[in-house]
Amino acid sequence: MNALTAASRNFKEAAKLLGLDSKLEKSLLIPFREIKVECTIPRDDGTLASFVGFRVQHDNARGPMKGGIRYHPKVDPDEVNALAQLMTWKTAVANLPYGGAKGGIGCDPGELTRSELERLTRVFTQKIHDLIGVHTDVPAPDMGTNSQTMAWILDEYSKFHGYSPGVVTGKPVDLGGSLGRESATGRGVLYATQALLSEHGKTISGQRFVIQGFGNVGSWAARLIEEAGGRVVAVGDITGAIKNGGGLDIPGLIEHSSGRQGVNGFQGGDQIDPDELLTEDCDVLIPAALGGVINRENAKDIRAKFIVEAANHPTDPEADEILSKKGVVVLPDIFANSGGVTVSYFEWVQNIQGFMWDEEKVNSELRTHMNRGFQDLKEMCETHGCGLRMGALSLGVNRVARASILRGWGA
Ligand code: GLU
Repeated sequence: MNALTAASRNFKEAAKLLGLDSKLEKSLLIPFREIKVECTIPRDDGTLASFVGFRVQHDNARGPMKGGIRYHPKVDPDEVNALAQLMTWKTAVANLPYGGAKGGIGCDPGELTRSELERLTRVFTQKIHDLIGVHTDVPAPDMGTNSQTMAWILDEYSKFHGYSPGVVTGKPVDLGGSLGRESATGRGVLYATQALLSEHGKTISGQRFVIQGFGNVGSWAARLIEEAGGRVVAVGDITGAIKNGGGLDIPGLIEHSSGRQGVNGFQGGDQIDPDELLTEDCDVLIPAALGGVINRENAKDIRAKFIVEAANHPTDPEADEILSKKGVVVLPDIFANSGGVTVSYFEWVQNIQGFMWDEEKVNSELRTHMNRGFQDLKEMCETHGCGLRMGALSLGVNRVARASILRGWGA
């Protein structure tokens, strides 16, 4: 299912649950601003190449808009729109003083050299610099981008507006980035999983995990879950998938995959078909890659008891229905992966205060935020007698609706 159709369908269900006024419902759904720009750069061989860049600013009722910038061949307007909308609900679920946005460039970052990527990032920044800012819209890394990308955006933005480290988060620590930001989404996934499992009388240790995606989020989640005593029995990425019932050696796999850009060929397990990864036997399945991977085709074959959505919108609404009938508990993206944007908020606060926190403070504040978020989520589920997806959405949508009404934007 198209990502925007899926996100809007879920939103409308939450709006109905909350009894939102139809005018307010419509205004919450429509993005504040959609930006589309052409980015032309010289390739290293002297030829010109053009890429299309997007920034969708979805809502700013609760504060500056916030969300990542993704470099991926599959970036398209509907997907960026859906992801921007999810950011609005995500920052509200995490109770951060932010709205939501998302950006992206349709490109394959693996096929561009470092200097081409730098030129592309700088051209994109030149085209959107007037529309982002510390108190308007604050980008961050997402799939295919990293702290270096943020450093280029910061540098280019500063040429127009003066040095403003708070204009992006997920920066290198040397440029005002926060300690603990690199691992934050994966660490948040760990804390969210711990909260969910403890609700079911379980702990991380003794559970078998399958992780799809081994980039920043998947690899950090795997590492921290293994350190907490969990057994990661299978991992996959676009290059392949590996299984080891006794538990994979995660530090070894991280070393292997960073050298070769993927998990394929790792000797510490058996190679399996990446398409079968999601239906492997395990206790907890963690999709940590693209959206829409759990759909009506494969949902019935999922054997995990819990799904923790480290990726954004990995589960289609149709799959949600099938999973719910099977009794599979799904911890939704807008809560499960909110550790990244939460530590982005800590980074932004440190930039504004001009005062750096140590890593222990970052991690302990993150744990406090995730635990509080889980309690809020549970309360919402109890109030409305709904599942975790609708609980999280109605928690987020309700907070944004209240802010909109208070600002006089309501019906
Ligand atoms: N790209 C991340 C996300 O989808 C982080 C966004 C941010 O830190 O602003 O949540």
